Amino acid sequence: VSWRIRPSALAEVVAHARQVAPAECCGVLVGRPGQIVAAAPTGNLSDDPNRFLIDPKDHLAALHASRRAGLDVVGFYHSHPRSAAVPSERDLAELSYPDCLYLIVGRPHDAAPEVRLFRMERGGSTEVALSVARDADQS
Ligand SMILES: [Zn+2]
Repeated sequence: VSWRIRPSALAEVVAHARQVAPAECCGVLVGRPGQIVAAAPTGNLSDDPNRFLIDPKDHLAALHASRRAGLDVVGFYHSHPRSAAVPSERDLAELSYPDCLYLIVGRPHDAAPEVRLFRMERGGSTEVALSVARDADQS
């Protein structure tokens, strides 16, 4: 199964990552199965700049807002300010939402930051194919 992300959602994630660097940003991905339509930034409850902990209050608010729009929270995103867009050992050990999709932005200040999507479980991850595309019904 491959996923698509709207260019505007990708731009939101990269902008958020750049804004909070050198700390990690985090947030939720809003969409429908197979498609990321928007990104909703959430607070990072971790005071360690090399960790992220999605504020559950923001997660819940994003969930309610997306359901009102006929969408759902389909995954999460965070950034690696100084390293590649691959899950770290800590990501896999401290997973808040196992068996979910996680988008990672690597080195956000690069001209074209690396952005990759993974399904993460405790102890392992599988990369999910991701393409940047507009959907047919986008006006
Ligand atoms: Zn990470």
